Amino acid sequence: MSKPNPLPSSHDKLLFTPGPLTTSLSVKQSMLHDAGSWHFDFNAKVTSIRERLLGIAGVSRTSGYECVLMQGSGTFGVEAVFATCVPRTGKVVVLSNGAYGERMALMLQHLQIEHTVLRTSEYSPNEPAALDSLLTADAAITHVAVVHCETTTGILNPIDEVGAVTRKHGRSLIIDAMSSFGAIPIDLPGIGVDFLISSANKCIEGVPGFSFVIARRELLLASEGHARCLSLNLLEQWKAFEKNGQFRYTPPTHSILAFEQALNELDLEGGVVARGERYRRNHVKLLAGMKTLGLRPFLDPKVQSFIITSFHCPTDPRFVFSHFYSRLSEKGFIIYPGKLTQAETFRIGSIGRIFESDIRSLLAAIEETFAELGIREG
Ligand SMILES: *Cc1c(COP(=O)(O)O)cnc(C)c1O
Repeated sequence: MSKPNPLPSSHDKLLFTPGPLTTSLSVKQSMLHDAGSWHFDFNAKVTSIRERLLGIAGVSRTSGYECVLMQGSGTFGVEAVFATCVPRTGKVVVLSNGAYGERMALMLQHLQIEHTVLRTSEYSPNEPAALDSLLTADAAITHVAVVHCETTTGILNPIDEVGAVTRKHGRSLIIDAMSSFGAIPIDLPGIGVDFLISSANKCIEGVPGFSFVIARRELLLASEGHARCLSLNLLEQWKAFEKNGQFRYTPPTHSILAFEQALNELDLEGGVVARGERYRRNHVKLLAGMKTLGLRPFLDPKVQSFIITSFHCPTDPRFVFSHFYSRLSEKGFIIYPGKLTQAETFRIGSIGRIFESDIRSLLAAIEETFAELGIREG
């Protein structure tokens, strides 16, 4: 049974992408203010958002966690953690099976932080056993960095096992939970997460403008003096929030207003589990419909998340992704190109303010487009 979108929509094209995502009309409307003018009100909102994010993560300040917001997209948050929290003598191992893992390695290279990359193929999850051997062999490694849902393919990495191995060796764990936080429950204390990064415009369904880091306070405070840059200094940012509730430098005011409304709507929907269930229904409907159209998913269902799905491009020579994309866009649907090195794929996201009825419309548009382009598949 598919529920129609209960909130009024705008007439924008629907985004079936990894983010930015389709947001509700009420989230967009919440931005129709000049927030700078009501200063104290605004700072109170920032403080409340930080508290509410800890709540969504299932932790609190009393249990030893802090939430720091950082201007910029998700990448800025990940880079802020590396730039601030890895000691000058530290070394990071990145577990990579896609573009976001590779991006972390690139950040470390730019920051001149010693690192090594443990790669698996784009269709295989990270290997905790290989990490175990590496940590046994290399005592210099201080931090393990992992991507929860690698949005490049939609693969879900085994953060529980990675966490267990990391804890066993007494190293710190950094999780890029950009595309999973808010839709997949993550047991931070259980897994032993020291730093978790996500952003405003993914599963919380806000608009772009800032990322956020949930950090173990003890480790955040221990990073004094490590920062390699000014604006991405997470510790100084936290100190500013603690001192006067303010961002250092210009805050992403409209994005904060939108985010507050997005958090209200996450509560209304029933929280993280209910949101994840909607996304799962979207994904299941999408898979079934694509199968009917003869399109195969790239990943083994065992490792596939319900966040975003990669599909093999049709083998019909008349299929040209850019034509397919444009036709769908004309019909009001935005999909996403593949980002893989190993196969011709495209991606369809199940996240954002989209519902099964929207997936149904998308599938009808894909079928129509195939007919227009004379593509026969399956
Ligand atoms: C979206 C995303 C990011 C951050 O990308 P930005 O474009 O900087 O917001 C990082 N990691 C993952 C897994 C993502 O899905």
